[in-house]
Amino acid sequence: MDNKKEIIETLKALYSSNSVIELRIPKSKYGLVSGYFNDFNLLAEAVMKFDGKVAGIYITLNIVNPDLLYRAKNKLKFGREANPTTSDQDITEISWLPMDFDPVRPSDISSNDEEHEKALAKAQEVREWLTVQGWPTPIFSDSGNGGHLIYPVKLPNDQESRKLIEKCLKALDFLFSDEVVKIDTKVGNPGRIWKLYGTISAKGENSPERPWRRSRIIETPEKLIPVTRKQLEKLAGFLPESPRGKVNGSIDIERWLDEHNIKVSKIKNWNDGILYELEECPWNPEHKRTAYIIQFSSGGIAAKCFHNSCSEENWWTLRDMLEPGWRKNKPEKNQDDNPISYLSVNDILAQEKDIIPLWGNMLFSEAVHILVANTGVGKTTLIYNLIIHAANGDEFLGAQFSRPLKVLYLTLKPPGLSEAISSKR
Ligand SMILES: [Zn+2]
Repeated sequence: MDNKKEIIETLKALYSSNSVIELRIPKSKYGLVSGYFNDFNLLAEAVMKFDGKVAGIYITLNIVNPDLLYRAKNKLKFGREANPTTSDQDITEISWLPMDFDPVRPSDISSNDEEHEKALAKAQEVREWLTVQGWPTPIFSDSGNGGHLIYPVKLPNDQESRKLIEKCLKALDFLFSDEVVKIDTKVGNPGRIWKLYGTISAKGENSPERPWRRSRIIETPEKLIPVTRKQLEKLAGFLPESPRGKVNGSIDIERWLDEHNIKVSKIKNWNDGILYELEECPWNPEHKRTAYIIQFSSGGIAAKCFHNSCSEENWWTLRDMLEPGWRKNKPEKNQDDNPISYLSVNDILAQEKDIIPLWGNMLFSEAVHILVANTGVGKTTLIYNLIIHAANGDEFLGAQFSRPLKVLYLTLKPPGLSEAISSKR
């Protein structure tokens, strides 16, 4: 295909007609080049003069404030004139979650064929995994050096959305990056520019070993279906979080794994911790290489298995399973003569806890919550509603439950008792 036509096809796949797009060439013989276009044909024509003569040609991915068109309407500006370019604040809506699968190599050279293919294969591996998670089909493309997946989303450009996108990319990096292909965690900011497919990626020297290649869309779905916020949140949830609770004493995790006969398949550094990938899942040995344990520099420990059926498991459930009775600070005097052991609030605070928010900033795992109010204002009704939504894992009073929770409802108050007391007063 004529590459001007291919560029117009790219623009049609990514934008609705009349959208305002910034075309940017960070490095050319004129320095920075930038212009704003709402005419796909004029944009493609402007690109033609630079294609193959610059390292890379880029466009903004998300929806740009249409007023920026009047910085340079359907034309290019050069050097100092080209500034300012699109910032994160200039984006009106986040419409794409981009993923960049980049082969590990020194900077400013093109990838070799083996690296190029491995990056494309990694993109396909992630696409398949996300499909299993229920995600819609993305646009799959060749950046010229590696692979790209771009998933449609529909998010307001606010702090919360930016955090969510960043967490999703970090989770993918955590799950899939290896020594050969890395998933770039820095491409999620709203004003990010992206390779314009149909143009040549020309990093370093063009050689048979490390050739320049024309970027292109490999597959685009017939209908673009946005990934839901819930699906994004679930992906973000795969990212291990450093336990925020107090860490009491520390465990020699390697010795602990050894003592409990847990086989480690891989050890690597991850953020400020050490990650132990487990040969098999300790909760279900049928799950191979889906579970891990991380010890953070704080001493805190997290454990998880990526299998859906293990989504409720964590370091505490693992410890309870393998080391029953490890929980300290239980007052011994009660244990002989009373089947119920009592804990004071101080005992609870002194325990090692993996505190994870479950519902906004109101409800946390491994925590005791107390609701206090006058008689008759609706505490019980509130609790009934809260636990129904907790069990469904959906939204309640404007905050989303992070997942469906197991609920056990016990009450010591016979029905109608509070009404009886109220009426006697
Ligand atoms: Zn498992």
